[in-house]
Parts: sequence; structure tokens; C-alpha cells
Amino acid sequence: MDIEENVARIKAELAEAALASGRRPEEVRLVAASKMNDAERVRRAIAAGVDACGENRVQELLEKNAQGAYAGAPLHFIGHLQKNKVRQLVGLVSLIHSADSLELLRTIDRAAAARGLTQDVLLEINIAAEATKSGFSPEELPAVLEQAAALSAVRVRGLMAIPPICVSGEENRPYFIKMKQLFIDNDEKKYDNISMDFLSMGMSGDYLTAVACGANLVRLGTAIFGARHYG
Ligand SMILES: *Cc1c(COP(=O)(O)O)cnc(C)c1O
Repeated sequence: MDIEENVARIKAELAEAALASGRRPEEVRLVAASKMNDAERVRRAIAAGVDACGENRVQELLEKNAQGAYAGAPLHFIGHLQKNKVRQLVGLVSLIHSADSLELLRTIDRAAAARGLTQDVLLEINIAAEATKSGFSPEELPAVLEQAAALSAVRVRGLMAIPPICVSGEENRPYFIKMKQLFIDNDEKKYDNISMDFLSMGMSGDYLTAVACGANLVRLGTAIFGARHYG
């Protein structure tokens, strides 16, 4: 199967899932998680109609960006971000999905302020409380939002989660439901520079379940590009 066919099929599935959950198709966006796929394959995904590209390593993003991989699509960062890489990303990506500590938020704020811009971010939630994953706990989210609201060069636009790897997408439904509830509960609080616009959840194994539960940004790698070859 090729990239073009995969993107067309996925977009049709997402449109159907959006409508089934009472939303318009354009309200659910497809982010191509393009790690380990070269610039040429990324350009094909963009031409086929993905809404954005997401990378999870800064070095790879910079290399592929220099090769023009992302022309014509918004670029997101979706991986774990080290503080010493922040300066290279700020302003280059339209959304960082993976802000996972207050320290990182403050670093992003300083880098964005120094460049005179505002950086949009999502707060990563460790929704299954996995020891191996980073992110805020649901319990600490209100306090984090309060602190983030004081950072004038960071704008929180929503939440992101990476639930456990699953055999069937259904297994993660309880986590997606918890995320949606968290998204709703915290939206009601209405801090100045915080708006709950994006709920980023759903990967190749579980995206239709995620959309059914309210996701409006899904991050798909394998489903678009096929299996990645490590090594
Ligand atoms: C690689 C990656 C994805 C996509 O994973 P697939 O299972 O291949 O769809 C999504 N989110 C993040 C943060 C990733 O690193």
C-alpha cells in the first residue's frame, strides 16, 4: 500500500468518525508522524493531504526541514523535548505537542520572548500514570495551568496524551475518555492565555477510538507510511 492511498483512506475514516461524533470533518486534523521517513516521503504525505507534519527528534526535524520536507504544511513537534534544544525549535514549529514539565514551559517562554513571538504548546498528560512516560498528572493540571497562564510568550492550546501501546484500540478507550473529561473540566476555568482548542491523541493502533472519544488531532506514522525500520 502506498502513502497516497493510505492518506486518502485515513481521511475518509476520520471524516466519518468526526461526523459520527457530532463534528464536522474539518474539525479533526491528521498529523503525519514522519519520523524515519525521508523528505521525499514526507512531501508525498503533504501532497496527499495531511494537515500537518510532526517530528519527534529535533536533529531529524532540522535536517529534513533544510531539505524542504515540510513545505506547504504546518510543522509540529511531538516528541520528548530537551531544554537545550528548545531554542532551535521555537518559532520554527507552529505547535509543540509535548510540553511535559514546568521547567520546559519556562524555557520555551524565555526562548519565544527573546525572539518576540508566542509559541503554541499542548500540555502532555501521563494519562495512564506510566513510570516510563513523561507528562503531567491529571491531578496537577489545574496548578500547571495557573503557572502557565503567567508565561506571556507561551500559549497553551490544549492537551496531548500517549496512552499505552495497545493490541486493539478499544483498550485505550478509558484513557481517551479520561482525557476528554480533563479537556472539558479545565476549559471551564478560562485562564488568559490558555484555550483548550486541541486534544491530541490517537496513533495508528487506536485513532478511530480516540476520535470517537473527542480527539481532534491524531498523530499517525505507521498507518500512513508503513512500518518503520529501525536499526
Ligand atoms: C511515532 C509517534 C506517533 C505515531 O506512531 P504510529 O503508531 O506509528 O502511528 C505518534 N505520536 C508520537 C509522539 C510518536 O512519536
